[in-house]
Amino acid sequence: MGKLKDLTGLKFGRLTVIERAGSKNGFATWRCKCDCGNIHIVSGVCLTSGASKSCGCLQREITQKRATTHGKSHTKLYYIWRGIKCRCFNVNDAFFIDYGGRGISIYPEWIDNFQAFYDYVSTLENFGKEGCSLDRINNNGNYEPNNLRWANASEQQRNSRQNRFVNFNGDEVTVVEAAEKSGISESVLRS
Ligand SMILES: [Zn+2]
Repeated sequence: MGKLKDLTGLKFGRLTVIERAGSKNGFATWRCKCDCGNIHIVSGVCLTSGASKSCGCLQREITQKRATTHGKSHTKLYYIWRGIKCRCFNVNDAFFIDYGGRGISIYPEWIDNFQAFYDYVSTLENFGKEGCSLDRINNNGNYEPNNLRWANASEQQRNSRQNRFVNFNGDEVTVVEAAEKSGISESVLRS
């Protein structure tokens, strides 16, 4: 055994070394007190290398936090998915007229497969970012791969402004559609 370094009193992460505990396989072990109150015996190598930073409580917390975060985003996204399906397929939905009513649909593979939807949208930039919500890039396009992004409020506003709906002979249509139907130019309609 090489020269023993006294670790007594030193702190490694949450572990404070109380005293030498003995040795294991030729390595010195140390009795430590964790910030959470547990006593934990660990080899000096684990302490000095940074491999052990707690009695195990730290890892448990990280794992738990990860599970919770994932659970939350999972739940939130589930409601988004349900909402999309409602707007696209449920004629009783208040927004159906702007979605399903305009022929906007959802990628076939996502209709009955939330996980497939999740797997795709969770890979997009800004996923889970505060203030961002799922937005269609082309407002007249479907909820489908390559037409979705996580956008913040101002980006969304810009998008919906470009695709503002107007009342045309009692129908809610986009400015572009109104221009086509009426023959009045888009810019005139917009102003
Ligand atoms: Zn602990």
